[in-house]
Amino acid sequence: MTGELGDWRRTHTNGALRLSDVGREVTLMGWVQSRRDLGGLIFIDLRDRDGIVQVVCSPQEVPAAARAAEAVRSEYVIAVQGVVAARPAGTENPRLPTGQIEVRARALRVLAAAETPPFPIVDGGDVDEAVRLRYRYLDLRRPSMYRHLVLRHRLAAAIRNFLAAEGFIEVETPMLIKSTPEGARDFLVPSRLHPGKFYVLPQSPQLFKQLLMVAGIERYFQIVRCFRDEDLRADRQPEFTQVDIEMSFVGADEVIALSERMVAHAVREALGHHVPTPFPRLTYAEAMDRYGTDKPDLRFGMEVVDCSDLVRGTEFRVFAQALASGGAVRGLCAPGAGGYSRREVAELEAVARAAGAGGLVPVHLDLEGSRGPASRFLGPPALAALRERFGARPGDLLLLVAGAPREASVALGRLRLELARRLGLVGSGWAFTWVVEFPLLEPAPEDGRLSAVHHPFTAPMEEDLPLLEAEPLRVRAQAYDLVLNGVELGGGSIRIHRREMQSRLFAVLGIAPDVARDRFGFLLDAFQYGAPPHGGIALGFDRMVMVLAGQESIREVIAFPKTQSATDLMTGAPSPVDPRALEEAHIQIRRSS
Ligand code: ASP
Repeated sequence: MTGELGDWRRTHTNGALRLSDVGREVTLMGWVQSRRDLGGLIFIDLRDRDGIVQVVCSPQEVPAAARAAEAVRSEYVIAVQGVVAARPAGTENPRLPTGQIEVRARALRVLAAAETPPFPIVDGGDVDEAVRLRYRYLDLRRPSMYRHLVLRHRLAAAIRNFLAAEGFIEVETPMLIKSTPEGARDFLVPSRLHPGKFYVLPQSPQLFKQLLMVAGIERYFQIVRCFRDEDLRADRQPEFTQVDIEMSFVGADEVIALSERMVAHAVREALGHHVPTPFPRLTYAEAMDRYGTDKPDLRFGMEVVDCSDLVRGTEFRVFAQALASGGAVRGLCAPGAGGYSRREVAELEAVARAAGAGGLVPVHLDLEGSRGPASRFLGPPALAALRERFGARPGDLLLLVAGAPREASVALGRLRLELARRLGLVGSGWAFTWVVEFPLLEPAPEDGRLSAVHHPFTAPMEEDLPLLEAEPLRVRAQAYDLVLNGVELGGGSIRIHRREMQSRLFAVLGIAPDVARDRFGFLLDAFQYGAPPHGGIALGFDRMVMVLAGQESIREVIAFPKTQSATDLMTGAPSPVDPRALEEAHIQIRRSS
């Protein structure tokens, strides 16, 4: 079969040619990055996903090719046949891998013309994200976006290979299902065959992976799309990809060890970086106390330190009152920030207040002693003790918050991130950490009713079981989260696999037996037929690629993402549908006035 290409076939990609190829006859194809007419010669930078090479056409030597070259514009798709030549001395381009050579064209064909693109296909540049998303196929032509997709592919391939070698099998689970227990809002899919009934899209394969354990699969994984109808942020999309894992006959330590080996393997394969294992572990309580968050960024120190004991009995009223009412005084030592102006401190105070602090007490440390309104009331002995506790040096700035202990830590945790940014403390590299021993339950913000922090199949820690009914909020879960550079990559847990325990937890959660039956009956039924002890984890794949690609938004590592308001600017989704389709789906649209 002959096609438009005739007998022209690419011999090389556009980033491949070097001085050692001089004299070679080549056929190249790609997009026109730029065309310049100079001194009677036409220069074309020809781009493909592999790189850029310079093509030269001489109107004297190859008039037909030059005529064709004159017609091309940016982003035309062309094919070139020619000979590789060394660039004349002084015209080499050291910034291009192919910069020592050029291809002298003998023939040139236009394979497709192109409109002027709405933005230049180059990295950098300040293109509005809405325009990028509308013309995503052009945006993805940019080298950096291609690199993100390659990194994503490499990580996925490495993860698949690793898990396969560890005896895991990838099993697909359905997309049209009954509701799952992750606790977000479901996307609904109306059933045409069953009027008034709906499928939902999975928030995760949670129940199916547990059923696969009952089925004796033992080691399951899936790189799987999940759907949650939530308000979006930079690191959230309505559909996202998870590396979903479940294992039988294991405890939390095995899931944790397996996950960290997998991640280290993937980072090594995809980026060539060595990530030491095991990753450090913090309990939830430690993370909250020392970093004010359950996803601490451990690329830098500057921990939150409790100094209640040191300021007790000083004349500083704010501290005395907080301590008297059962609160704490906690603080941070910002290295080298002792010279911060009143305005800078006020900005920091605004950050702390926005994060729930009642106020912020600065103590500027200099060689002679300390400055700041509190110094006088605190007095020299307390100040000396504070310096020692924080390991502070002259030129540092202590920032203290008084209040309920957890709240003080949370406010200081926010401040810690802000200060790290301002002081340039955030180093490069990957700081992985596990956060373990999460609380099992939390009160709902609206009505204080108990709900599961992870999901209602998460097993409590054995040693806390006696507290389950009496002091449920003190019960810790056999749950773990993996954090990278302050971003929660995902988490998982050991599951409840015995019916009695599950009923006990449903009772504590106030889920009546008939409600439990209705929602999860199939899982509870399955558990009557012999469920092995099991547990697993799910890692947010988009976030993982985002952090490893050094990006701040998961939209940068997803080929066709949605906007913050969950629309697809390229296809126009969501959009109205044909009234007939609505009718078939038994749906009537109610227009809100
Ligand atoms: N299904 C959970 C989630 O998607 C993860 C797990 O417990 O394995 O967050």
